[in-house]
Amino acid sequence: MVMRVLIAEDNSELATVLSRILGAEGHVVDIATNGTDADALLAAEFFDLVLLDLGLPLMDGLDVLRRLRARSSDTIVLVLTARAELADRVKGLDLGADDYIAKPFEVEELEARIRALLRRRASATGSVIRIGELVFDVATRAVQVADQNIELPKRELDLLEALILRAGRVTPKSELAEAISSMEDAISEGALELYVSRLRKKFEPAGLHIRSLRGLGYMLEAV
Ligand code: CA
Repeated sequence: MVMRVLIAEDNSELATVLSRILGAEGHVVDIATNGTDADALLAAEFFDLVLLDLGLPLMDGLDVLRRLRARSSDTIVLVLTARAELADRVKGLDLGADDYIAKPFEVEELEARIRALLRRRASATGSVIRIGELVFDVATRAVQVADQNIELPKRELDLLEALILRAGRVTPKSELAEAISSMEDAISEGALELYVSRLRKKFEPAGLHIRSLRGLGYMLEAV
């Protein structure tokens, strides 16, 4: 999963190292070197994850966090702190940080923490379905293959979603046509077959197979 990550850290050497590491994993990374910039970026754009230093100039990290949560953002917050004191940790977690890591830390530990947070997030929302190389976010309907976002026309996305939610079982054409029809636009079984062939063309290379069972319907499976 490619993430948008904000590194809010005034130690520019550390910020650069972290940015390189996360960038090398394919993530899109921004750096803010003070609390005001971090706050402005978080208010203006969506980030999946923020690595938040508590001791930031201009605006304290705890204030950045407080303001972020006040906007009911569900950005994952991993606090980076040299303040190993229990009070600050507790305060950070109370304010809605997902985890913290005390500086100095090993890169491996940071990566492990990030992976654990992502796993926790995915299982908490239950919103991501993986089939072969395809990743589908039920909440946002975002489609990714091998970490690349795939943009689909509406009908194809509707059909893909309908197939994904029924993956591994045979679904009659009539049911699928119904699922992607709207009030204004009824989809015939002929049109459905057309959308199926378009999806096959796009997703067969990713190891996703839409099996056709004569007289029964379609079934999505990983090959
Ligand atoms: Ca600092």
